[in-house]
Amino acid sequence: MTGGSARALEADALPDDAEFALCLTHDVDRPYKGLRGLYYAIQERPAYHLRTVFGDDNPYWQFEDIVALEDDLGVRSAFYFLNEQHLFSDRPLRDWLDPANWVQHLGRYDLTDDDLVDVVERLVDGGWEVGLHGSYHTRDDRTRLREEKQVLERVTGQSVSGGRQHHLRLSVPETWRHYRSIGLAYDATLGSTTACGFYHGYRPRKPFGDEFLVFPLTIMDQALPDPGREFAAARRTCERLLTEAAENDAVMTVLWHPRFFSEREFPGYRRLYRWLVERAEERDAWIGSPEAFCETLESAGEASDGEGTEGTRETPGDEAAELATSTPPRRDLPTAKGSGRDRGRGDS
Ligand SMILES: [Zn+2]
Repeated sequence: MTGGSARALEADALPDDAEFALCLTHDVDRPYKGLRGLYYAIQERPAYHLRTVFGDDNPYWQFEDIVALEDDLGVRSAFYFLNEQHLFSDRPLRDWLDPANWVQHLGRYDLTDDDLVDVVERLVDGGWEVGLHGSYHTRDDRTRLREEKQVLERVTGQSVSGGRQHHLRLSVPETWRHYRSIGLAYDATLGSTTACGFYHGYRPRKPFGDEFLVFPLTIMDQALPDPGREFAAARRTCERLLTEAAENDAVMTVLWHPRFFSEREFPGYRRLYRWLVERAEERDAWIGSPEAFCETLESAGEASDGEGTEGTRETPGDEAAELATSTPPRRDLPTAKGSGRDRGRGDS
């Protein structure tokens, strides 16, 4: 970000003369329900949760279902994979003393496990984007981010073009500098875990005035009204944002965690996702992954144009560093009803 300008630099082209763009993303936090799910959920339905944690029945493993659903819809999304450090072998001793780190650690998976490698290969072969979900401690750790990217690239067999930070933990603009320096083309972290909306503008940002893009997050699943309890309200929120996107030629980015596709554990979210994609299709949106969006810009020769354009929303202050990343700068839009305590909703 260059100093002195109150106007963010943004990408201004939409693919294929689309009305707006919808970027679909999934952060793969916990493909196995495991003990971490138990930590959040056991108070509510202990017998059920014990069965689903220790039985063969794993409600968090949703890859096949999501792929089938998106295939049916004719769209492709991005899956961001975590490569977390091991609490005992990789983290300093003091981290062991913090219960929060234990909770983090309980959900850890190993990207090089056969099951995961299999999934990643199938996603890549099928045309899905596989990206980096930078782990909890990496926002200021370029070395670790580079290692995580390299491990992921060994699994995918190809270069990774972008990703999002776990729990939306971001240092602005340092994390973006790290991303750019390790060869990533974009970040999709900038957003809120508790409110849906275009708080960070309608277009991907260019924080350095070059080709590196930041996709603001418009909707995180857990920030919506719970569609299991109030489907109509959740759908209204999505419809309102689709309308705002269409009116502003926006790039709207949404995050549905894979476990939210489990109808038993998170009723309503899968149905709402299908509705959102179909509604965007009806409204002539371009729909795809952030990587695919970047590719359309490249082919249009737009990425080298560093100017902000008409429709740019001004942001308070003149530096990206002023942006709040965990709480939105405006509070005049509806936020999620209900708390994040149930069924592990309060996780990202
Ligand atoms: Zn995450």
